[in-house]
Amino acid sequence: MSEQQIVITAQSTADVVQAVSRAEQEGKGITVVSGGHGLWSHQPDEGVRLELTGLAEVSVGERLPDGTTRVSIGGGATWGGVARALADHGLAISSGDTSSVGVGGLTLGGGVGWMVRAWGLAADQLIGAQVVTASGEVVETSADRHPDLFWGLRGGGGNFGVVTRFDFSAHPLPRIGYAEYVVDGDAAAALRAAREAMAVAPREVTATYMDVPPMDPSAPAGARLSAVWAGDDVDALRSALAAVEAQEGVSAEFSVPAYREILLEMPAPEGEGPVPGFIGGNGLFAELDDALIERLVAFRASYPASVLFLRSLGGAFGEVAQEDTAFPARHATWFVMAGGFDIPGLLDDETRTAIAADWKAIEEQRIAEYGNFTSTESPESVPGMFTAEAYARLRDLKRTWDPAGLFRRNHTIV
Ligand SMILES: Cc1cc2nc3c(=O)[nH]c(=O)nc-3n(C[C@H](O)[C@H](O)[C@H](O)COP(=O)(O)OP(=O)(O)OC[C@H]3O[C@@H](n4cnc5c(N)ncnc54)[C@H](O)[C@@H]3O)c2cc1C
Repeated sequence: MSEQQIVITAQSTADVVQAVSRAEQEGKGITVVSGGHGLWSHQPDEGVRLELTGLAEVSVGERLPDGTTRVSIGGGATWGGVARALADHGLAISSGDTSSVGVGGLTLGGGVGWMVRAWGLAADQLIGAQVVTASGEVVETSADRHPDLFWGLRGGGGNFGVVTRFDFSAHPLPRIGYAEYVVDGDAAAALRAAREAMAVAPREVTATYMDVPPMDPSAPAGARLSAVWAGDDVDALRSALAAVEAQEGVSAEFSVPAYREILLEMPAPEGEGPVPGFIGGNGLFAELDDALIERLVAFRASYPASVLFLRSLGGAFGEVAQEDTAFPARHATWFVMAGGFDIPGLLDDETRTAIAADWKAIEEQRIAEYGNFTSTESPESVPGMFTAEAYARLRDLKRTWDPAGLFRRNHTIV
């Protein structure tokens, strides 16, 4: 944070109201920090920095008619803390894959995790929220109260206020099956097999393909498909992905961990500083066709310091009507992220241009970009994170709830 920045650590909704009013007076915007994994939490800024980590309480409420349970979570909680607290009550919420990621940033942007096919996005399980708006008003929102604001919180990012409390519907904690398929052979063939298997797989299974260089102990180098099963019959995971296991050069390992054990430990970076350069991007794709697979595998093979990440969609994610939330591309079947790290001294200009051009060719097929995985701030790319209808609606909401653009330290709706 810069010397001019005013840092406020909130312990209550009243503290948040005060911080918003201070930011309004200062007129330099507000940086809202929950888990601290987002782009803006590490950029210098002269406005108010509002730290929400003091608002991390998890409280379990009543049983709901659909068999889920109301759970209220403070706006500064992280998913690892939530998974631990809920396990004691035999409950779980669809979250992201990493313990230290914030409930705030992930949910407001959508939230694609290990249960995305079983239960949908984190935002799909949101049933209410308390929001401190730009005018300092404390607003309760749900499908019945300020439904438009509630709609915008599910995918529209931190554009409309500070969420001090999220209310979710939590599921009974299922048994978890976990499989890891190390791909030491034809990566394109393994991906084609994964695509075929996932097209007919039960929603209990969600799969992630990763191919990364040596960089972090929590992400072993090389290509692998990891899959999670959320349901009693954990052995069904193996049959669902039998076609992947049958590929030459693929070796498989299975386990039955607790849900909280499958969340990765990857602390948020400390302090501020430039985010390492990343040339590439992400997208939600209707189809993972053969040509796209070839492009992705060739991309990873061409650049040693590159990463490839794919996550299967469909299932519960695809059953939410497009207009019900601000999140785009409900008909997407795969999420893809690919890019090369621009480490000083590693890439020359020619290679940088080549990586960007290769990504551009891949990107052309995407339906929309997923803002939570976009590591650069570029206002002109924000409309591409939504359907045209949703973007128009989000602009109306911004006009209503934050006309002066106090909440601009995010993928800003102009
Ligand atoms: C290691 C790592 C793993 C990840 N894994 C996943 C994953 O599995 N699935 C996935 O979907 N995404 C994942 N992401 C992306 C992640 O969802 C985004 O980076 C998200 O913005 C991080 O949220 P945060 O609360 O940790 O970050 P922060 O920097 O604290 O917040 C990000 C932005 O969200 C807004 N915000 C946060 N909290 C609030 C609040 N309470 N009220 C209002 N606005 C708020 C603010 O605009 C803020 O700038 C991952 C990112 C990283 C770095």
